[in-house]
Order: sequence, then structure tokens, then C-alpha cells
Amino acid sequence: MSRPRVGITRCSKLDDYVTSIHKAGGQPIVLEHDADPNRMIEQIDGLVLTGGADVDPARYDETPHPQTYGIDETRDAFEFELTERALATDLPVLAICRGMQLLNVAAGGDLVQDIPSQLETPVRHSVDSRPDAVAHPVRIERDSVLARLIGHRSDPETCDVNSRHHQSVRRVAPGFHVSATSPDGVVEGIEKPDAPFCIGVQWHPENFHRTGEFDSLFENFVEACKAGRRASSA
Ligand code: MN
Repeated sequence: MSRPRVGITRCSKLDDYVTSIHKAGGQPIVLEHDADPNRMIEQIDGLVLTGGADVDPARYDETPHPQTYGIDETRDAFEFELTERALATDLPVLAICRGMQLLNVAAGGDLVQDIPSQLETPVRHSVDSRPDAVAHPVRIERDSVLARLIGHRSDPETCDVNSRHHQSVRRVAPGFHVSATSPDGVVEGIEKPDAPFCIGVQWHPENFHRTGEFDSLFENFVEACKAGRRASSA
């Protein structure tokens, strides 16, 4: 069967996303921020929302915290439109780091703008050594979709992850559940249980394609992209 077309929004560390999707059986298609989101959404079978700088806090009716950085109105506008269309049409979505934060805001939630200054936590969430260096564990909710997808581990309740973020999900969007948290209570995963595939993770599973820790997450996502296309072409 041919590879489903997986849209990956342009970001500065694109290679590992492309490699992970290709390894999982998808055809990666890089989506440029100045493209027409309504045209692009017609050309893909699934959407990966990638990492990057901060979402404009105006999107959730706040002014920027002093540590909020890198606001890019063109990227925000493109990704919000794509995400709203994807949610409305049940297009499979895998949202990573900034992508998970954007997904939550697009669906009506909001964010902690700066973890170090707004939350008291002993956990370091901004670890910038090797991309796949373990930063902290996360607890996976037992009855979550995420637990099913990565539940091959010896201990299904916890999993070690990398971490390169200073913002996090605060109020979870209506219709979404928390699927993973770090030991300090920071939200590390969200999902929309009634969607065919709508998963956000705060860490960077794409950095582990060499060792395969999160292969099943990408493989299940690509399967969902295939299934969606089968349904719509039937
Ligand atoms: Mn983290």
C-alpha cells in the first residue's frame, strides 16, 4: 500500500521529524508557513505539529510574560488554521512540544507562559544537552490512548523522556484529557479520546528514531493516517 501523506509544519530541527515519519511508513510533506492552509489540508492524510518558539499569548487573551519569546504571527496563523481544520474534520494529529501547546490553545485551552518563574518545581524541563538525553520521567495515565500506544514497556506507568520547553499546558482544552504528567505535575501529554487520532506530547519522541523508544507512537499515527484515507476514499 502506498505511503499516507503526512504534513509536517516547517521548524528549525526538521530532520528527526521527517526521519521518524518515513521510518514509520509515512510520506513526509513539509508544510511552509506561507502556504494556504486550506489547500494544504486537502493534500495530507495526517498532520504533525512540530516544536519551536512560543505561541502568541494573545491567542489565549494574555499579554506576553517577559520570558515569552520568538512570537511568529505568520507561523501561528498558518498552524492555527490547519489545526482548527484538522480538528473539525477528524484528520489525525500528532502534536509535539510547541505543537501540543498550540493544539491545546487552538481547542480552547491555555498555557503556563514560563515554568521556571511561574511554577515551583525541582524538575528541569529545559535540558539542552544531547537531543535524546533523558531529562525526567513522565507518568502515563493507565486508561489513556497514549498508554495503549506506548504500553509495550516493562513498567507501563512511567517512561523516561527528553525535555526542551519552558511553557506547558495549564487549562486543558474542552474535550481533551491529560495523558501524561511529570513528577511536578506539569502536563506532558494530552489527547482527544473521541477523535480517530489526536495526541499531543510535550517531549520530543522524534529524537529517538535511532533507538526506537517511540516507534510505536509514530507507527500508530501513520496507521491512523492510512485508515482515514481509506474511509474517505471508500
Ligand atoms: Mn518536560
